[in-house]
Amino acid sequence: MTFDQQLQAWGEKLAFHYHFLFHYKNCPFGPELQEAWNHRYALFSKFDQGIKTDAVGLYSVTPEKTAKEIASRVNADTIVDAFCGIGGSVIAFAAVAKKVYAIDQDSNRLALARHNAQIYNRNNVEFIQGDFLQLAAQQKADAVFLDPPWGGPAALDKPTFALNDFSPSGRQLLDLAFRYFPQVILRVPAQFNFRELAEYRYTVQDNFLEGRLISKTVYFHA
Ligand code: SAH
Repeated sequence: MTFDQQLQAWGEKLAFHYHFLFHYKNCPFGPELQEAWNHRYALFSKFDQGIKTDAVGLYSVTPEKTAKEIASRVNADTIVDAFCGIGGSVIAFAAVAKKVYAIDQDSNRLALARHNAQIYNRNNVEFIQGDFLQLAAQQKADAVFLDPPWGGPAALDKPTFALNDFSPSGRQLLDLAFRYFPQVILRVPAQFNFRELAEYRYTVQDNFLEGRLISKTVYFHA
């Protein structure tokens, strides 16, 4: 971590403790997700302005800082967010791109994403319900962002993480993404095994939150 990142981590930890002390609430989804719930203001700075989530959305959302970090590295007019969840990444992409296509196969979660994007006044997003594997061929855009499910909160306890641990499989997703999109971005767990990507050229971004490495983002080179 650089000194700047260190400083930022302190600020983030301070904000977390402040919210923990003065805005503590029991997690509506039960004690297993209390930890994620305690971090809700890091997930969405506008959480109290009406952000809605479900349990899956809460533990899988891209935190706002990470989403901005990723969006700032992507140079594209049009972006497909292939697994949009409750819209954390969508909100950041819509601030830098002309148009975002947000796909999720779960219609309830897609509705939450649509609602949350409204809270941030993002009006350049088209929400599409369906399976990305089916939709990829017909969905034109400059870039595709892949944040497929990691297999629930337990995934974080795995010592290493492979392409096949994503569902759908990361291998299948990458093949599809390279076939239809000029730029491909993949968000992976911190313990991802990069040896599996030996055949590709890419740059990796470390995503820190409160001083912890929470994910890595892979930007594939054309
Ligand atoms: N980046 C998102 C979180 C993604 S969670 C955010 O910031 O909120 C992964 C999402 O993928 C879940 O909402 C799940 O419903 C969706 N999903 C799983 N398989 C899918 C598929 N084949 N096609 C489209 N969406 C899928």
